[in-house]
Amino acid sequence: MSVSARISALSPSPTMAVDAKAKALRAAGEPVIAFAAGEPDFATPAHVVEAARRAAADPTMHRYTPAAGLPDLREAVAARARRDGLEVEASQVVVANGGKHALYNTFMALLDPGDEVLVPAPYWVSYPEQIRLAGGVPVPVPTAPEDGYRVTVADLEAARTPRTRMLVHVSPSNPTGAVLSPEAVTEIGRWAHAHDVWVVSDDIYRELVYGAAAFSSLPALVPEHADRTVIVDGVAKAYAMTGWRVGWSIAPKEVAAGITTLQTQLCSNVGNVAQAAALAALTGPQDEVATMRAAFDRRRRTIVDRLRGIEGIELVEPQGAFYAFPSVRGVLAREIAGRRLASSLELADLLLDEARVAVVPGEAFGAEAALRMSYALADDDLAEGMDRIAATLAP
Ligand code: GLU
Repeated sequence: MSVSARISALSPSPTMAVDAKAKALRAAGEPVIAFAAGEPDFATPAHVVEAARRAAADPTMHRYTPAAGLPDLREAVAARARRDGLEVEASQVVVANGGKHALYNTFMALLDPGDEVLVPAPYWVSYPEQIRLAGGVPVPVPTAPEDGYRVTVADLEAARTPRTRMLVHVSPSNPTGAVLSPEAVTEIGRWAHAHDVWVVSDDIYRELVYGAAAFSSLPALVPEHADRTVIVDGVAKAYAMTGWRVGWSIAPKEVAAGITTLQTQLCSNVGNVAQAAALAALTGPQDEVATMRAAFDRRRRTIVDRLRGIEGIELVEPQGAFYAFPSVRGVLAREIAGRRLASSLELADLLLDEARVAVVPGEAFGAEAALRMSYALADDDLAEGMDRIAATLAP
């Protein structure tokens, strides 16, 4: 028996793979500390869990509901977009099984075979694979640590061809934590408009910005391009709800209708109980979002300090999301634990084997000689994990 060519060509998600390995080792009693998948260590806020409990007891929630999502949740998502200054109706919102699924729906709805999609690199692991699954061609657009990993219009223009159909815009960025200024986002939106390039704006980390950095909504800054923009977002990161699997896309009506048609054939509605929880998250008190943000910021400052104290590591200070993306070129240039490592893949393996610390190698994100470290873990674990890394990498 063999699987299809489509599935044979698909690589498994490296973030999910490292996460699964770390969790399996921990379940087996190994004291693994995971800087792996971007997953808040907090429990979901209690009022959200309570809303889910109530929904589970409501028989109307035991039935199929509209494929595009619970009407109240679609309206709550639209209302939040309107508070950003966008003109959005509930009919433009389609609820999906997490932001990841909303992204895939979007690629499926907009890409034809051979359409090129510009993906600033380092990029999140699933963009290229999802684009390929939808028949598109991912075109990485390199960004450099010297530029703070911030993509510019000049970079995008250098990669544009007559086949360019779409740009994936993500700020704050996974994996680099880079946040673009409002001016830079405006320039990118205007460039996309001038060249009729669709924008998929992955806003999943919008609530997680630190210091002077601020989230900028591309279609709010460039409203003339709103009818060529799809926003993807969800409750996972801001509300500590990764396991609930609720995300959404906000798209021009025709695209939203296409995505809905896809869902009617693919999965019908997302679990009603999880949708009720997402509704409570969006419409209820927001104080825990701020509390979690403050904790992530504290951990961010700790990991930046600790990483910069290790010989051979260079780091662009992350301004958003919850990832540090250190360059380890200087570490690979010297001997570690008596041997010379060839790549960050080998370094990640060594850290897991020797230090029982899980990180994701840069190769997963289209970058060499780098690691991605999520700092959405408990302060004590962060300190202990950094002690172990520092000891393992000590000259
Ligand atoms: N977005 C998170 C990460 O990059 C979750 C894991 C995943 O879906 O890739 O770690």
